[in-house]
This record gives sequence, C-alpha cells and structure tokens, in this order.
Amino acid sequence: MRAFDYATASTVDDALKLARPGSAFLAGGTTLVDLMKLDVLTPDRVIDVNSLPLKGIRLHAGGLRIGALERMSDVAAHPVVRAVHPMISKALLLSASGQLRNMASIGGNLMQRTRCDYFRDVTSACNKRRPGSGCPALTGVNRGHAILGTSDSCVATHASDVAVAFVALGAQVVLRGKDGGRTVALEDFYLLPGSTPDRENVLGPGELIAEVVVPVLPWARHSTYLKIRDRQSYEFALTSVAAAVDVKRGVVQDVRLAAGGVGTKPWRLRAVEEALKGGVAVERTFADAAESAVDGARPLAHNAFKTSLLKRSIVRALLDAAGVR
Ligand SMILES: Cc1cc2nc3c(=O)[nH]c(=O)nc-3n(C[C@H](O)[C@H](O)[C@H](O)COP(=O)(O)OP(=O)(O)OC[C@H]3O[C@@H](n4cnc5c(N)ncnc54)[C@H](O)[C@@H]3O)c2cc1C
Ligand code: SF4
Repeated sequence: MRAFDYATASTVDDALKLARPGSAFLAGGTTLVDLMKLDVLTPDRVIDVNSLPLKGIRLHAGGLRIGALERMSDVAAHPVVRAVHPMISKALLLSASGQLRNMASIGGNLMQRTRCDYFRDVTSACNKRRPGSGCPALTGVNRGHAILGTSDSCVATHASDVAVAFVALGAQVVLRGKDGGRTVALEDFYLLPGSTPDRENVLGPGELIAEVVVPVLPWARHSTYLKIRDRQSYEFALTSVAAAVDVKRGVVQDVRLAAGGVGTKPWRLRAVEEALKGGVAVERTFADAAESAVDGARPLAHNAFKTSLLKRSIVRALLDAAGVR
C-alpha cells in the first residue's frame, strides 16, 4: 500500500474543502482499503467522512430518504424500509456478509468498483484501471462479465445489488460539491463504458453522495429481489432481478424491473415493463415479455448462458412479486 495523508472531517463543507485531485473519501472502507492494499487505488489523501451528518432514514413527501452513511445492515433491518420497499431490504440482505454489511455504507456500496479480476490485478492490462492498456476480459475469462451495455473497451459488470433495487424504483441520489448540491436519477448517475470505462459515474472531483431518495409507490410492497449466484451466500450475482408489480383483477397495472449481474451498470428493463402492462398476470405473459430483456445483448465466449438465465430470472421474480403460483 502506498503512503497517504489521513484526514477527518466533521462537516460536509470540511470534507469538500479537504478533497483534492487524487484524494478519496473513506466510509466503511470495505472496498477502498481492499483496493488500496492491492495498489489498484492509490489516493494520496484519505478523508474519513464517518462523522458527517449524512445519516437517517425518513419518509418525506418526496419519498424514502436514506443517508449515504447509513450502514447496509441498518437499512436492511429498518422497519420503514421493510414496510415500504421490502425489495431494498432483500437486496441488501443478499449482499456480502453480515460483518461487511455492518461496516459498509450505502454511499460506498453505490460507489463500489467492479469485481472484474483483471481490474483487481495490477500486473494485468485494464482500460478501466489504466486507460488505453486494453481489455483482456474480451478474449480471456469472461464468465462473470456483462452482456448488456458493453463496449469494445470494457465488459465489466456493476457489482452492487441494492443499486439494482434503487434503479428499478426510480431512486435519485443527492450530491454535494463545492458549487452546491444537485440531484440525479441513479440510473443516469452511472455511465456506460463506451471508450472511457475509467469514468464510471457523473460525480465531479471532490463531490459526495449525501443521500438516496426513493419514490414511494404504494403497490411496490409487492416486490422481490432475486439473486442467482454460484453459491448461496457471500457471492456476487450472475444475474439478479428487482421486481415490483401491481396486479388488479389478474391484470398487470404497473411494474418496475431492473437487472444486475448482466449490465455494465444496474439495468432498468423498460421494454419488459412496457410489454407487461395490461397483460394477464400469468407465467406465459411474463415469459413472452422477458424476451425483450436481451435485445441488444452481446454475449462473450463464456457468458452466453446469461441470456437465458436472465429471462428465466425475470419470470421467477415476477411470479414471486405478483404472488402467482
Ligand atoms: C468479500 C466481499 C463481498 C461483497 N459482496 C457484495 C455483494 O454481494 N453485493 C454488493 O452489493 N456488494 C458486495 N460487496 C461490496 C460491499 O457492499 C462494498 O464494499 C461496500 O458497500 C462499500 O461500502 P463502504 O462504506 O465500505 O465503502 P468504502 O470502501 O469506504 O468506499 C468505497 C468507495 O466509495 C467512495 N465513497 C464512500 N462513500 C462515499 C460518498 N458518500 N460519496 C462519494 N464517494 C463515497 C470511496 O471513496 C471509495 O471510492 C462485497 C464486498 C466484499 C469485500
Ligand atoms: S472488463 Fe473492464 S474492468 Fe475488466 S479488464 Fe476489461 S476494461 Fe478492465
């Protein structure tokens, strides 16, 4: 690990003043410190933000507001989250391990880096870590990589589970920077890799995530988060689906769907949502609609199985969320 300055901030303004090019904010440290030990990240200043007043889980007129420094385990267990958006709680409980969830913050989770092995190995080329050096995953081991939103420069998946639930629900992130604050839809916060995979989101230098605001949809209590992985715990998704569905008299009135493990960012499944609306809530409808989930998919040598796995995951998640057996 490289030497770095360590600074603590107790107000957002202090944290923003301490930030400079090459610095990094430290929340739970479960990703940052890991990647610093591997020399993948080499900040020259680490700014501990754990004392900032970015906590709290509250229902407001605008929605469910979750402070960026809330711990994953506290959000998962919170009675309001469980009552209003059980999908968020489920996505968190299927993430990482109990110990990690106790340390890890929501802001840090949204900012976590890809688990692509080439990215984490500094002896390997990687356009995301070292722009212009190449992408060995394109022709190398790519079983866990993305099939949607990929480019010739990068095919890495976004690893967060709860981001998938947030994107399905149309959540926004409130950002704070030296020039004030702004609010961005989480779906637009993340960038496609294109030819600049090193640029993963719209956060400006020194800007912070302050909170996440999730719209409240009364019917979204009928929701689920399905995660398919190689082992049943402590593992990232091969595919995941966040689904909330409003069924009245057997007909789909409204639906929210997003997928993880398949996209270079959390992937909202808008075409599937549109195909479902007005349809009879039965397995056949769900299966027909799921076909459009993989429009434009670009499978690689080892991950073509994800196209059928994604479609089947969508059907299973919808059956569960709609209570159809
Ligand atoms: C073994 C293992 C398994 C895991 N499995 C899963 C899983 O199954 N699903 C899943 O979703 N995640 C998983 N994770 C990832 C884990 O959830 C993240 O490491 C964690 O959420 C990061 O939060 P943190 O507070 O520790 O962030 P930190 O490590 O402190 O920070 C991470 C990054 O975010 C930045 N940052 C932190 N807070 C802010 C903020 N408020 N604004 C702007 N930037 C900020 C930091 O500068 C850093 O770049 C796993 C991690 C490990 C180590
Ligand atoms: S997929 Fe992306 S992160 Fe992985 S090696 Fe290629 S450029 Fe790097």
